Amino acid sequence: MFDDVLARNAGEAEFQQAVHEVMESLTPLADKHSHYTQWSILQRICEPERQIIFRVPWVDDSGEVRVNRGFRVEFNSALGPYKGGLRFHPSVNLSIVKFLGFEQIFKNALTGMPIGGGKGGSDFDPKGCSDVEVMRFCQSFMTELYRHVGEYTDVPAGDIGVGGREIGYLFGQYKRITNRYESGVLTGKGLSWGGSQVRTEATGYGTVFFAQEMLAAEGSSLDGMRVVVSGTGNVALYAVEKVHQLGGKVVAVSDSSGYVVDEQGVDLEVLQEIKEVRRGRVSEYVDKMGDRARFVSNGSIWDVPCDVALPCATQNELDEAGAKSLVANGVRLVAEGANMPTTPAGTAILRDAGVLFAPGKAANAGGVATSALEMQQNASRDSWSFAQTEERLQEIMRSIHETCVTQAEAVGRPGDYVTGANLAAYIKVADAMVAQGV
Ligand code: GLU
Repeated sequence: MFDDVLARNAGEAEFQQAVHEVMESLTPLADKHSHYTQWSILQRICEPERQIIFRVPWVDDSGEVRVNRGFRVEFNSALGPYKGGLRFHPSVNLSIVKFLGFEQIFKNALTGMPIGGGKGGSDFDPKGCSDVEVMRFCQSFMTELYRHVGEYTDVPAGDIGVGGREIGYLFGQYKRITNRYESGVLTGKGLSWGGSQVRTEATGYGTVFFAQEMLAAEGSSLDGMRVVVSGTGNVALYAVEKVHQLGGKVVAVSDSSGYVVDEQGVDLEVLQEIKEVRRGRVSEYVDKMGDRARFVSNGSIWDVPCDVALPCATQNELDEAGAKSLVANGVRLVAEGANMPTTPAGTAILRDAGVLFAPGKAANAGGVATSALEMQQNASRDSWSFAQTEERLQEIMRSIHETCVTQAEAVGRPGDYVTGANLAAYIKVADAMVAQGV
């Protein structure tokens, strides 16, 4: 059956990888619960309900017309309106959007919130663009997207390359076209215009909360742990912050140009100034910190010895060699802050070595869960405090952890978070689809 899915999605390597991982986890169901693994349900789950591909023309600062490609894959609405981010990055193509949308279905199911799965984006590269160029691009993107989204239909948010600035420009254009202040159409909004406290921090914080739950289950904690966090985007920065709040020490972070090591613990304020304020490179950290830090431009961040590794950059960034290096240096836990950052070979090395391993769809679900909290606040025209929202986030991460542990134990695979997460989420989505008919 898997071969049929492969054939139908030929050439879409990332999507095939994501499907394969979920399908593999279903084997414990094959005997007693075989209705879940029947083709009638599998083929429906693997086929997006709707895929939209569109032209995004915009004018750059020199007056030149540029054309990018826009995508929105509305994958599954069994549990609620499609929900998932938009990614603006030159690597974006249909395979990447489909893998992200597919992951999102199960991640969103794990949150326990009423949200379906979708994802979108563009091959537009905001890097090097002026603010006004980014605005024109976002306005053009929404000029097509507006007809497909809505608080009861499809609710986009950010992902790589899409943060508060982009969500602002997208929301402004939606409002201009529709003449509706429909707060619930997008999440990740600014705090003064319908956004939620903790949404910016949520993916990074949630990943660390999840890691903390895993360690607590083993009678341990993050206190005193050496941690390596790949990336310096929104997920990575707030993972660093929460690790430090919980007593761990982040000794290395990276971006696409290389990584920095700071044995005294990465200074978050300095990093935030470089990345969030100036949109600069991680190498500038060394210019600020002098001898205490070093920058490595060609090498792997996974060679830095650590107890806990949090891949928070992008898909397939932690490969077999990286995993071997982590294991050789005694890593105890890997939790995925990014979506599918570990390759299948990398995952196998970590799991065979007995490393605690949390898949992204469980560990990084805090971002979308807080988006759902933003939707709740918008629907009730309310806004909650930081403390209240963070408490809800922590409860949700605890509950996802509990769900994974219980499901893994129920099929005789204690400690297998990949199987636990995939099975629990898949069963929930499949049950809803069956109940709603073909
Ligand atoms: N892009 C984020 C994710 O991968 C968040 C999506 C959302 O908030 O809708 O889950």
